Amino acid sequence: MLQVDRISARYGPLSILREVSLGVGADEVVGLVGANGAGKTTLVRVLAGLLRASAGKMTFAGRDISAEAGHRRAGAGIAFVLDNRALFGELTVKENLALAERRGRRLGRPDGMFSQDEILELFPVAAERYHAPVQLLSGGQQQMVAIARALLLRPRLLVMDEPSAGLAPLIVKHVIEVLHRLKGRGMGILVAEQNVRLIADVADRGYVMALGRIVHEVKTGDWPDFLTDQRLVNAYLGG
Ligand code: ATP
Repeated sequence: MLQVDRISARYGPLSILREVSLGVGADEVVGLVGANGAGKTTLVRVLAGLLRASAGKMTFAGRDISAEAGHRRAGAGIAFVLDNRALFGELTVKENLALAERRGRRLGRPDGMFSQDEILELFPVAAERYHAPVQLLSGGQQQMVAIARALLLRPRLLVMDEPSAGLAPLIVKHVIEVLHRLKGRGMGILVAEQNVRLIADVADRGYVMALGRIVHEVKTGDWPDFLTDQRLVNAYLGG
């Protein structure tokens, strides 16, 4: 459904991504792993239209989105969970979720993909803090609301950047449980994550990035082999 074809990107004179190619199918969870600084966030920024690729092509559901603005990509059905969390800090959890739900409905995708009720059951913390302004929530709570918001947009593809970053272990565990529950809901999921063991638990397959390139592909069922191969883990993930 998402096809990334030899994408390169630079920050000024610095070449960061070098001919990155990968794909995400309509109903699979794909992990993008790599050490700190490998280029995962840069790739997510290119996918979100926040950084322009200097070469290469991206297609989504058969349509070339390479030159499209970020909001058009979102309109096509890609939802992003990024560092900045894309929430309105002064609005309550309820208001943030209502805005997302309205937008999801306006985009015209099938009704009932994720209802607010189901979302509040998946993220109890959103229900507990429903009437609180988002800016009063902890980082972990905001992360939950950010994922909840993305799901209410009824995406065909969910792209998450480092969902575990800075979160307490218990919250990380909850994020992974939620990812398990999202499987089989007709949505592709791409997760950039430094913690490979975490993502290996839930991803069907994956790509390993180092120095701005895809250096290894983990095929379906191959996570255990990858994780026990010290040579690969040391080489690409720094041990
Ligand atoms: P992390 O796990 O730390 O997020 P990452 O794999 O996401 O790592 P990126 O954040 O994409 O890696 O960084 C890739 C490279 O690009 C690094 O060398 C980083 O220093 C560099 N870089 C990132 N942002 C900028 C920027 N705004 N200007 C210049 N260089 C940058």
